[in-house]
Amino acid sequence: MVRWILHIDMDAFFASVEQLDNPELRGKPIIVGGQSCRGVVSTCSYEARKFGVHSAMPTVEARRLCPHAEFLPGRMWRYKEVSCEIMRIFGEEAPVVEQLSIDEAFLDVTGMERLCGDVRNIGWRIKERIKNEIGLTCSVGLAPNKFLAKMASDLQKPDGFTIITHEKARDFIAPLPVTKIFGIGSAARNTLLQYGIATIGQLAKADKRIVQKVFGKNADKVQLLAQGLDDRPVVPETAPKSIGRETTFEKDLFTFDECKAAILELSGQTGFRLRKKGYSGRTVTLKVKFKDFKTITRSISSEGDISCDEEIFVLAVKLLQGVSYQNGVRLLGVTVSHLQDGSCGTLGFEENTKLLQRNATIDNLKKRFGENIIHRGGRHS
Ligand SMILES: [Mg+2]
Repeated sequence: MVRWILHIDMDAFFASVEQLDNPELRGKPIIVGGQSCRGVVSTCSYEARKFGVHSAMPTVEARRLCPHAEFLPGRMWRYKEVSCEIMRIFGEEAPVVEQLSIDEAFLDVTGMERLCGDVRNIGWRIKERIKNEIGLTCSVGLAPNKFLAKMASDLQKPDGFTIITHEKARDFIAPLPVTKIFGIGSAARNTLLQYGIATIGQLAKADKRIVQKVFGKNADKVQLLAQGLDDRPVVPETAPKSIGRETTFEKDLFTFDECKAAILELSGQTGFRLRKKGYSGRTVTLKVKFKDFKTITRSISSEGDISCDEEIFVLAVKLLQGVSYQNGVRLLGVTVSHLQDGSCGTLGFEENTKLLQRNATIDNLKKRFGENIIHRGGRHS
């Protein structure tokens, strides 16, 4: 049986939600993202894209290109709310949904012809429901596999619907540049160019040895994708592998105390997320990006499962002690991995119970009044 996979991606999601909630912003260039001098654009409306603004561009650059745009810091809680509505519609229309991010998902609709005549109808109906019930547009790709479906949804944005059939898949993708394959960046593109390979079609037919030289152990996978083949299943949401937070600083940090204060904050944010989702973890990872953009990660594991801010903090600071921060730290990140269901497995020790209670109290405050309601003092110095 031929598989049919839908990939649905909301158009300029954050910016569109802002325009939905505030009619005055409709038809105007909207740029949602970090407002500081080191902030980056998270999403921009199509009106702003005309000026060359795009996601991940420094906000400073976006201001230069489109000074009259409306710059907004973003309202994550609201985007999540709308996202839940969208995912609910997906769940009602398709039997298997894999959410990829806040605004996109794969839907496996294989075999649904028997119920709805033509799988295309599912895509049209979802577009219509999202427009009528939520007020937003999305772009849909329908294809025999994930790779092609994701590529298809991107081809006619915004408000597009692109279908790549099984028979036409190979011809369809052959003329596209190799960078359309997820994971092929400019470095691999340049290397391939040296061998005269510029398009997906050329990559599909390329000599195995060349592909091996460029992609190593991923060579076979890449070449199959270039041939339009991808048998990855659509997998309904799975538990996260790690939970963490990172911050880029306005000014580089140079001292142990500055780094430690930042880690205290990050440990609190990470712990809060961990407990909110009902997890505890075993391994703490510290990510450090230096002034020169060199990035390292250091990990340490505890004997038992941890989920309290204090426990995460102590391990992260231990990792910091082995890092040469003196030349300037641009970014710090704290992540907890090897996750388990349930907060803290080591209940029963008096010290730990007190910790858990204190963390629970802080969590309640944060849930009621927002995460910025409370900041930890340097009690653990
Ligand atoms: Mg999107």
